[in-house]
Amino acid sequence: MKFETKVIHAGIRPDPSTGAIMTPIYQTSTYAQSVQKEGAEQYAYSRTNNPTRQALENNLAALENGNYAVCFASGMAAINGLLQTLKSGDEIISTNDLYGGSYRLFTQVFERYGIKTHFVRMDRLEAIAAHINSNTRLIWIETPTNPMLNIIDLKAVCALAKHHNITSCVDNTFATPYLQQPLELGADIVMHSATKYLGGHSDILHGVLICKDKKLADQLYFIQNAAGAVPGPQDCFLLLRGIKTLHIRVQRACENAFEIARFLEQHTAVNRVYYPGLASHKGHQLATEQMRAYGAMVSFSLKKDRSEAALQLLKHTHLFTCAESLGGVESLAGHPATMTHASIPRTERLAIGLSDSLIRLSVGIEAVEDLIQDLDNALRKLSNS
Ligand SMILES: *Cc1c(COP(=O)(O)O)cnc(C)c1O
Repeated sequence: MKFETKVIHAGIRPDPSTGAIMTPIYQTSTYAQSVQKEGAEQYAYSRTNNPTRQALENNLAALENGNYAVCFASGMAAINGLLQTLKSGDEIISTNDLYGGSYRLFTQVFERYGIKTHFVRMDRLEAIAAHINSNTRLIWIETPTNPMLNIIDLKAVCALAKHHNITSCVDNTFATPYLQQPLELGADIVMHSATKYLGGHSDILHGVLICKDKKLADQLYFIQNAAGAVPGPQDCFLLLRGIKTLHIRVQRACENAFEIARFLEQHTAVNRVYYPGLASHKGHQLATEQMRAYGAMVSFSLKKDRSEAALQLLKHTHLFTCAESLGGVESLAGHPATMTHASIPRTERLAIGLSDSLIRLSVGIEAVEDLIQDLDNALRKLSNS
């Protein structure tokens, strides 16, 4: 089945009790059990399983060409769930340019439990290899990275992990399964903040871990049930609904992002544009190989390289709303240094190129002419100030 068909049909059947085409919201915590146990019932309690969530998990597994999907109440809850399969003394190797919340979880929560994370540049395999030891259990990869949009070679890094018998997990939130399928490139687990593109409408929080291996899936289902950070059925329903248009939304958003990146690249107030679709981007070739298109996130820095200049610019855009998050139908703009990445020390930020004036755009599916005009107006006000 092609991706465009899977988003609509995979894992979803007419409801067995009514024939309803759309999976109903099974808003129930518990289910009647037969008193004389005739084998385990499929549904007993909604932390363990729920029919709306089950349909969603089947659908999500198919989108990533996995066999199992394990849903959580948010992206962070999904990452937390994965880390709870580790134990004190284990070590993680992670990209050094990653989602601020993941960095915070690794350093401020799991380090307290004796799980150490090494943050390394993943464009160099030697840098990863140098941190591998007998305690290394997990390699955490994000590509394109947030917010610098660096591209990491998934095939190479996952092969290195496999060679050392280390689990690899890819945060595929920015790319979506439509653009990039890490399990096909050798990853053991794919993670999504489905809050973003999968949901697509900025109206839910949701996270998921997807894998092929049954043993790994069983460990994750165990944590899902034991720790209980599960999504409610209403959010599962909304996510199922959002996913049906994933390919169309992402395709249009990518086209818009490409045009905006080209526009910014020639603008006199702009210092640098980070977009994997541009030939000037150092990961351009790799992105072309491992992604279907280049995504809808665009970052850029200003000639006036100060936080105040970036915040000033964000004050003057009207269609690009200044907000955290990404991946919705509406365009958003953020200032990582004071927003998403404020928890990363400034020296570490600057070391990865995350300058004070860097602005991150999540390009939506509005008319691209309107979006460009909105940015142009704001940039002009900045030049005149
Ligand atoms: C948002 C995000 C997360 C965290 O997901 P939540 O749903 O906000 O908990 C993790 N990784 C990336 C890349 C994200 O953008």
